[in-house]
Amino acid sequence: MLWWELQNEIDFDHVKTLKEGFIIIIDTTGNKIHRTSCPNIYKPYFIQKVIKNRKKNGTYYYTDTLALAVKKWNPEWCLQCK
Ligand SMILES: [Zn+2]
Repeated sequence: MLWWELQNEIDFDHVKTLKEGFIIIIDTTGNKIHRTSCPNIYKPYFIQKVIKNRKKNGTYYYTDTLALAVKKWNPEWCLQCK
């Protein structure tokens, strides 16, 4: 059971190669959870939010454990990859 924050493009690319686990996007409009394979996890958005805007209104996390994600961030499921 582990989790980490995606800080840069290397972290993003690494997580996208993982077959298991979840990506949680913390956003001012609400927290969303996705599978790592979700096509809605779009790299230009990540770069915009995390790198260019310095996480002012968005943070990305990875976890391998769904229960941990629910407890920690209480996210809503992405409708595309649920
Ligand atoms: Zn999704």
